[in-house]
Amino acid sequence: MKGTPADRVISLVDEAYDELLYTYPMPGQATRDEMPTVRLTYNGDHFRGIILGYGTSFEEAHTHVPGGRPAPGDRCSGCRWTDVTIMWAQPYNLDDGPTAPYQYAVIVRGRSSLPGETQRVRTTWTPDAAMVLDTLRVPVPKHLRVTGRERSVAGPHEDALLDAALLDEPLAAVALEFSKERVTY
Ligand SMILES: [Zn+2]
Repeated sequence: MKGTPADRVISLVDEAYDELLYTYPMPGQATRDEMPTVRLTYNGDHFRGIILGYGTSFEEAHTHVPGGRPAPGDRCSGCRWTDVTIMWAQPYNLDDGPTAPYQYAVIVRGRSSLPGETQRVRTTWTPDAAMVLDTLRVPVPKHLRVTGRERSVAGPHEDALLDAALLDEPLAAVALEFSKERVTY
């Protein structure tokens, strides 16, 4: 049964979660207070909250003949991609009682549309905005290490952070610090 986001429970590995991400208001379309609360589940855990930011590396294009598979080492963003969601969320049990305070939840999903490949989901919970930034750091390829840093926030991780910074003051502060770090050679 379909309902409003607030009374539907959506699994992080379900297509309904993709629909939710594509239809959820972007920052600028609604204030933080207007963001609809969503209920999510993963691995038997339940949590509810609002989506602060989202980013994806998915592209509707392939680097090879469509229907085939990318060659080994070919990073085709039409076949394999990453999406990142930053939430302000609260775990709860099935009697609807909260089991922890509201805090940040960073959900990183490694996706694949290739037959036989499953998706990977990693969630990180923390009340600390600085820890959210650390969670979003991904390895920088060697040839791009102009600042000598081995990890940085880029791609869908950066998109999600910049979205979230528009709605959340502590994340805005760490995003600003990060942008200074990046221009310091
Ligand atoms: Zn492809």
